[in-house]
Amino acid sequence: MSLSFKYDFLTKNVSNLEGVGPKIKKLLKRKNIEKISDLLWEFPRSHTDRSKLIPLNKLEIGKIGTIKVKVTKYNFPRIRNLPNKVICEDNKGKIDIIFFNSREGYIRKILPINSTVIISGKINYFKNKYQITNPQYVVPENKQDYVNKIIPKYSLTEGINEKLYRKIIEQVLIKIEKVNEWHDNVILKKIGNVRWDESLHYLHKDEKVDLNSKYYRRIAYDEILSSLLVMSRIRKRLKKLKKKRKKYKNKLSNLLIKNFNFPLTKDQKKVILEIDEDLRSEYRMFRILQGDVGSGKTIVSLIAAANVIESKHQAVLMAPTEILARQHYNLAKKVFNLTNVNINFLTGKTKAKEKNIIQKNLLNGKVDLLIGTHSVFQKKIKFKNLGMAIIDEQHKFGVKQRIQLSKKGGFNCDMLLMSATPIPRTLVMAVYGDMDVSKITEKPSNRKPIITLSKPEEKINEILLFTKKQINYGNQIFWVCPLIEESKKLDYSAAVKQYKLLSQKFPNEVGILHGEQSKDEKDEVLNNFLKKKINILVSTTVIEVGIDFPNANTIIIENSNKFGLSQLHQLRGRVGRGLEQATCILLYKNNLSENARKRIKILKSTNDGFFIADEDMKLRGFGDVLGYKQSGLKDFKIADPVIHSDLFKIAEENIKVINENENNFTNYELLLKLFDKADVINNINQQIISLE
Ligand code: ADP
Ligand code: MG
Repeated sequence: MSLSFKYDFLTKNVSNLEGVGPKIKKLLKRKNIEKISDLLWEFPRSHTDRSKLIPLNKLEIGKIGTIKVKVTKYNFPRIRNLPNKVICEDNKGKIDIIFFNSREGYIRKILPINSTVIISGKINYFKNKYQITNPQYVVPENKQDYVNKIIPKYSLTEGINEKLYRKIIEQVLIKIEKVNEWHDNVILKKIGNVRWDESLHYLHKDEKVDLNSKYYRRIAYDEILSSLLVMSRIRKRLKKLKKKRKKYKNKLSNLLIKNFNFPLTKDQKKVILEIDEDLRSEYRMFRILQGDVGSGKTIVSLIAAANVIESKHQAVLMAPTEILARQHYNLAKKVFNLTNVNINFLTGKTKAKEKNIIQKNLLNGKVDLLIGTHSVFQKKIKFKNLGMAIIDEQHKFGVKQRIQLSKKGGFNCDMLLMSATPIPRTLVMAVYGDMDVSKITEKPSNRKPIITLSKPEEKINEILLFTKKQINYGNQIFWVCPLIEESKKLDYSAAVKQYKLLSQKFPNEVGILHGEQSKDEKDEVLNNFLKKKINILVSTTVIEVGIDFPNANTIIIENSNKFGLSQLHQLRGRVGRGLEQATCILLYKNNLSENARKRIKILKSTNDGFFIADEDMKLRGFGDVLGYKQSGLKDFKIADPVIHSDLFKIAEENIKVINENENNFTNYELLLKLFDKADVINNINQQIISLE
């Protein structure tokens, strides 16, 4: 039996509803409401109180009033622009009901003379008389219950009057009864034991939407589950993609590890084993490696590359920027120094002649490892036998882009993505559920923890003294001035001002970096800083993630209260890569908010990016947090990952059970359609077919 067939009406266009003509259809579309079910997720925002019947001597002018009156007299002037009038009364007084643009016949029908009616609308006072103009409701006495109550008010009603909107939504609400339950009883109990239709009925008449009510949680859970189900569906398909097993004896990788002048961390070893297993398996690897900047991800990826190369395949490493790619290239050259592995470097700036040589050597297999920017995936670049693609710092890539990249890699290509942007635990499956996830939490043991201080701005002289001392020791300083956003224009004047001030105190030592500069200008400043031609780098927040500045040991962050927790952590991670003790100074203006105080306290207490990401989301709420918008997570209409984090856990558990049997999926067909996930799955499945 197919549920989706029976309840097909929910996925039909709203124009199938009575009262939805082309005009209303267009208005609804503007609010992203196209399917009938889309109406269900828009809960009322407030209510209109039509619940009291008011005697005609107690009316309040300017307010909504609901009255029960007898129709006594018509006054139809039959002159253009003069309104029709109906005089009504109760035992306390009289009132005029005024109609503009309504025909006589219609008025006679809804207000028959001598009948008792319920009228609701805004009370006016005109020429010593009460009146209601174009009342929202006129119903006969026996329909009193429909009007005489507290009526939900939807935010969508702009251009659609309350009565019509009610008529539309009520058609849907009445039909959702008897939709078969998709959850089993065990799950249902965990999420409050309320039915789907029951919850929606409640939420559409509830006077105040309470995100913690069992009704709201039930619907939030449905949305969360649908979202995670998509990812697990895709994961399941990707898991079946075959490849040629890679065969190697870890000779090359062991040689590299032996030559490191440091021991690998426990986490690094664990991840190396995870990747090892993937490479040897007959299924293609889709793995994301998460870890703070400097936790040693790139090293891990190079060890994996060594294994791939030993198995007689090529590997490619792509970084988002020129500078980052170059640093990886330099690191790789160092790491593979004692081997005969052939590494090439390719970016948009590579000269045509050199590029031709690289292209030729990629094709004949002379290049083992190619490192570069997006250029490495140009159409013209073809590999003889690509075995693995490593993609650095692409947390903004969504599922589709990840699959497109895999397509470029080819049929034997394992995929390893790396990201230094920690995702709160709650959201990992929603963002990365299509891949296997590896994590490095531990920092290399030779790193001294960064000292984090907070100082009020007035103490700037102390900071300048500190800066001077650091420069004298040969250390470098980041000075971050956040952008001030005014009327859409990003203002970097604060950074320029600070740059000028610092240049006076430290002549020829200061550079500036901001978003309005060209890529070349930025690269030049960054290179000057890397080469120690300058020692203070004033910037807005644009210092790229992942670049290694081993000599920078101090970061000073102005207006630190303007940044979120994760962002401050990312900024702090720009220092502390060298041997010198690193310091992060958070400057603030007096009167720190409660929240800002908490952020500073958390930063001082820990260096764990994953923990910080969780706390950040709790403090700031979902939606505002760095980078999530780009990851497709804006898709949550109902669920709130902070308030409903427990529901995410339940959904993850549930998905494990669902995945045990392919038949289980059929129960959720309708759910996936309701939340627009069915198309997403089909779409991506189409793409995956081309990977087979
Ligand atoms: P990530 O890619 O996570 O930012 P990298 O792999 O680039 O980190 O490592 C940053 C620096 O730390 C590199 O110079 C690397 O050689 C060094 N490093 C990596 N792992 C360790 C370790 N276990 N102990 C000490 N240093 C390490
Ligand atoms: Mg890195």
